[in-house]
Amino acid sequence: MILRDDCSALDASDELSSLRSGFRLTDGEIYLDGNSLGPVSEATSRRVNEVIDTEWARGLVRSWNSAGWMAEPTRLGDRVAPLIGAQPGEVLVADTLTFLLAKLIGGALELRPDRHIVITDVANFHSDIYIVEAMAARAGRPMTVKAIDRTTLDQELNDDVALVLLTQVDFRTGEMLDMKSITQKVHAVGALMLWDFAHSAGAVPLDVTGCDVDFAAGCGYKYLNGGPGSPAFIYVRTKWQSVLQNPLPGWLGHARPFDFELKYEPAKGMQAFVTSSPSMIALAALDGALDVWDHVTMEQVRAKSLALTDLFIDLIEDRLPGVFEIVTPREHEKRGSQVALRHIEGYGIVQALIERGVVGDFRDPDICRFGFTPLYLRYIDVYDAVERIVEVMNSEMYRDPRFTVRNAVT
Ligand SMILES: *Cc1c(COP(=O)(O)O)cnc(C)c1O
Repeated sequence: MILRDDCSALDASDELSSLRSGFRLTDGEIYLDGNSLGPVSEATSRRVNEVIDTEWARGLVRSWNSAGWMAEPTRLGDRVAPLIGAQPGEVLVADTLTFLLAKLIGGALELRPDRHIVITDVANFHSDIYIVEAMAARAGRPMTVKAIDRTTLDQELNDDVALVLLTQVDFRTGEMLDMKSITQKVHAVGALMLWDFAHSAGAVPLDVTGCDVDFAAGCGYKYLNGGPGSPAFIYVRTKWQSVLQNPLPGWLGHARPFDFELKYEPAKGMQAFVTSSPSMIALAALDGALDVWDHVTMEQVRAKSLALTDLFIDLIEDRLPGVFEIVTPREHEKRGSQVALRHIEGYGIVQALIERGVVGDFRDPDICRFGFTPLYLRYIDVYDAVERIVEVMNSEMYRDPRFTVRNAVT
C-alpha cells in the first residue's frame, strides 16, 4: 500500500523538484495534459516580452539583423537537436507540425522516384494521415498510401515502398515504438523512414543519429511547452540535406533572399526548409520554453517519468481494481510519458475530473489520457490525482448530464 507520505518523501529527494517553480501553474490544480498543451514558464514570458518590448518596439525593422531574427529557425533547431540526438545543423524550427510533415513527405517521395507505396499506421494521428494522402496524390506518379496495423509492418515492407511514416509514441495508448529496429527494417528494403515525435520530443530520450533515422518532425506545444500553435521542428539527416528538396519553397529558403532573383536556388543546409518570415513572437515563446533543458538531462526526465507513470498505474490498480483497462504498456521500453485508461464513460469521467481539478483529456472512443511531465509534476500530485479519480468513480458523478455534453475540443 502506497501512502501519501511515501510520495512526499520521493519529492523531498527529487533532483528535479526545483524546476516546478519556473512554471505558472494554478494552485490546487493537477495538470496532467502537458502532452496536449504544455504550461507557460517564467522564461517563456520573459523572452516573449523581450522580443515585443525591446527587439520589436525599439529595434523595429533593424532587428531582423541586430537581434538575429533571420537565424532564429536554425538557432532554435540547434537548441532542440540535443533532445532528439541530432547533430548541430540538422534541425529547423518553423511552421507547425502538419506543414512540416508535408515538406518532408513531398521531398522524400522525390528521393525514391521508382517506388509507389507509402506506409503509415492506421492508428496514427488523423492529421498525419490526411497530409500523407494529400502529398502522395500530388507526387506526379501513381502512389498508394497504406494505413496498416503496425504489427504487420514486416509483411507490408517490400521494394516498392518509398517511405514509412510512423508516430513514435502512440497519441492514444502511449505505446512507444522501437525506433532502431523499425528504421533498420525499413532501410533493409531500401525505403526511407520518417518519424513523428509529437509525443516523444521532451518526453523520452531519442537518438536519431544512433538509430540512423532519415527524417523526423515534432511538435512545439506539447512536451516542449512552446505555447498554443507553437512552431514545430524537423530533422533531416546531414547526408540528405544536399538532395532533399523543399516542395514548398519560399523566399527565405533561397540562397540569397535579398537578391530578389526569380529563379529559386535553395540555401545550404536546413535553411532551405524555411518558406516564410520567421514568426518571431511564437519563436520567442518556444525559445524561452527551451531554457529549462539547460538545467536537466533527458535521462533525468525519463527516470522520473517512468517513476511517475509506474506510481500512477500502481495506485489505479490498488484503489480501483478492474475499473479501468490500463491500455499503456507496463514494459518501460514500450511506454511513453502518458498513461491511457479505457472506460466506456471516459468522456464524462474526464470532464468530472477537470471540475475536481485534475486536468487530463479524452480521446475517442473511450480513452482517458493522462500526461506526466517530470519538469513540474510531483509524486504527491500523482497521489492526489488518483484520490480524486477514486472519488469521481465511487460517487459516479461522471454520470451527471453536465459532464456528458461534448465540447469542441476534448
Ligand atoms: C499534435 C499532433 C499533430 C498536430 O500538429 P499541428 O502542429 O497542429 O499541425 C500532428 N501529428 C501528431 C502525431 C500529433 O500528436
